[in-house]
Amino acid sequence: MIVVMREGAGRQEIENVVARLREYGFSIHLSEGVERTIIGAIGEKKPIYLQSIEAMDGVEKLVPILEPYKLVSRSFQNDTTVVNVGSVTIGGPELVVMAGPCAVENEEQLFAAAKAVKEAGGHILRGGAFKPRTSPYSFQGLEEEGLKILAAARDEFGLPVVTEVVNPRDVELVEQYADMLQVGARNMQNFTLLREVGRSRLPVLLKRGLAATVEEWLMAAEYILSEGNMQVVLCERGIRTYETKTRNTLDISAVPLVKELGHLPIIVDPSHAAGRWRLVPSLAKAAVAAGADGIMVEVHPDPQHALSDGPQSLRPDHFKDLVDELKALAQVVGRKLVASGE
Ligand code: PEP
Ligand code: MN
Repeated sequence: MIVVMREGAGRQEIENVVARLREYGFSIHLSEGVERTIIGAIGEKKPIYLQSIEAMDGVEKLVPILEPYKLVSRSFQNDTTVVNVGSVTIGGPELVVMAGPCAVENEEQLFAAAKAVKEAGGHILRGGAFKPRTSPYSFQGLEEEGLKILAAARDEFGLPVVTEVVNPRDVELVEQYADMLQVGARNMQNFTLLREVGRSRLPVLLKRGLAATVEEWLMAAEYILSEGNMQVVLCERGIRTYETKTRNTLDISAVPLVKELGHLPIIVDPSHAAGRWRLVPSLAKAAVAAGADGIMVEVHPDPQHALSDGPQSLRPDHFKDLVDELKALAQVVGRKLVASGE
């Protein structure tokens, strides 16, 4: 529920309410606005608690949060969350472009990709060091060596780095090298992992599960927020349908829907949705037109020889064309795409 304090409620009154809520076992999320303070209280609501809190000095009213995803919901927080990844902000007026190869293969490959991302105006470098592959015989990633290459590319090109963490045990390791932790589609309901990244100081990119409903996805985000990490960005990457001509089906309606239901920013990954590079620019543009806060695209210096997801990876020249098109489109939808380094 939300405890709305009266306009001009004093510090002591606010502290008393917070103390009482804590005594009743609620966890507290304080939001101090210019005019009034709002206290988000998550926990079991017994009628006796409610009566006692409602009667306290400085309290205007109690508002229940009806959605099961409490902290994620717009009722809990009306303003869109702005997530900081290094010096890049996601959820503000500027669109964010994350790009890079599916997997870090070696230093030469990643640096060539990072250079392409930087030169085209991308903001965040992506690349998997731990790869959750469908087949155990596929390339599984370079693990810590891959993380080191990512960190070196960040230093060289000045782009913050997002990379996937697959195992709760590896969160501490990945945190040492990355600027943002990615939870992949296959792990969207790995609740131990969600709780672990919820205790991280780093922002989290939470991809939608292969067959997850929007509500299940928001509940997964709730796991992260409930551990204290409010810096979460959602990523729509296509869901499984009966269609086989594309790898997945991009659920474009998820973009405005998630924005209506919650306050977390959302980006779209057209690469894993399409599975084919030729479709990627159209889906990326559809995402921006639908109100996404950014995109995540796979870019490889030599897609034909990529160790994973080559068929859906854009060549650097095609990626550059896409960023230029998105710049123009951004203006039409009231956003801005300011290329990194501009
Ligand atoms: C990825 O981003 O490389 C990836 C594995 O994506 P997803 O988890 O969406 O399949
Ligand atoms: Mn991939």
